[in-house]
Amino acid sequence: MSKQKYNHPKIVDALIEKSFPELKGKKIFVFEIWMPKKYTAGVTGLGIYFVTINKDHSGTLGELKAVLAHELCHIITLGPRNILYWFNKKIRRDIERETDKEAIRRGYARGLYGFWKKNKRRYSKISQYYLSPEEIRSYAKEIGKW
Ligand SMILES: [Zn+2]
Repeated sequence: MSKQKYNHPKIVDALIEKSFPELKGKKIFVFEIWMPKKYTAGVTGLGIYFVTINKDHSGTLGELKAVLAHELCHIITLGPRNILYWFNKKIRRDIERETDKEAIRRGYARGLYGFWKKNKRRYSKISQYYLSPEEIRSYAKEIGKW
């Protein structure tokens, strides 16, 4: 497995500059964590946001950007029902699928597709909450973002 050294905070800055104008100037901090054999990413916070990304991943730059774009989309789609994210599977699924769609609308369909195509089996426990590779492609085609 090749370990590429990505500068995650720099990639997040570039994503905001390119695709998330409404997040410019927000307090967003990127934490690189180390959890071998897992590809974790997440965002938490209200007003100040923490994007966490596992340094141990072998994704391509395009896949990494898409995963981080998905996390930034959580800030955009954040609403009161997020309180129930961890307690209600249906709500969690709705939030994740809407967040995927927002990332697709902003141009990250191919990266998400590549990520899930490779990792669906590996992350089978959580993949149920997200759009499948086929759904990613068909939604992206439908809105002209493939
Ligand atoms: Zn998510």
